[in-house]
Amino acid sequence: MSTAQEVPADVAASGLRARGGSRIGVLGGTFDPVHVGHLVTAVNVRHELELDQVLLVVANDPWQKAGSVSAPASERFAMVAAAVAGIPGVEASDLELRRGGPSYTADTVEELAATHPGAELHLILGSDAAGGLDTWEREAEVRERVRLVVVVRPGAEAARPPAGWSHVVVEVPRLDVSSTDLRARAGDGRPLDWLVPDAAVRVIEERRLYGAGR
Ligand code: ATP
Repeated sequence: MSTAQEVPADVAASGLRARGGSRIGVLGGTFDPVHVGHLVTAVNVRHELELDQVLLVVANDPWQKAGSVSAPASERFAMVAAAVAGIPGVEASDLELRRGGPSYTADTVEELAATHPGAELHLILGSDAAGGLDTWEREAEVRERVRLVVVVRPGAEAARPPAGWSHVVVEVPRLDVSSTDLRARAGDGRPLDWLVPDAAVRVIEERRLYGAGR
């Protein structure tokens, strides 16, 4: 049986640089709401692996979180777009919203490969999500198309990608922040400041998401 294998970050960066073509990071999520854990991950992985851009791909229908998603996809996208405005090399992607239906990363990386021929796709996951890769739809297809980048998330330090995946771990500041906790904070009237980017806090307040401003 093959086992998950870790590749040093500097090797991952140099080996890939040599080949040319664009280097794209894909950080998919529900972003319900977006928070500093997502942004700190995006900018630091981009820097460490010398990626041209990191796309925050907003899930249209995150089927693995059925029943626990609060804000509609269009509102989650609005928060992400507001949060990343002005961050060099980090962009919000609505491709899963445009595709509609359940959001499968296999479809997303297939589409990105078609629209960005020759690009290196780097799938960026928190360690909690990486530990669950074997529950994904068409896991093998995803594995064929991407290089896996894992950031360690507080509470999921021991989680590892399943057997068969090689991956690189990028060290980013470990921030114990989750969308679940932030929804509870908004609902209770506790502050979101510094945990959610200002521009996204304004979207939450203006659109009264998560019971904010009741
Ligand atoms: P939930 O509260 O449901 O756990 P979440 O905070 O994980 O939500 P998602 O939008 O589901 O938010 O996360 C998208 C991606 O970002 C996942 O790969 C997840 O592991 C990663 N991620 C989320 N929060 C952090 C964090 N604090 N540090 C590092 N990675 C994170």
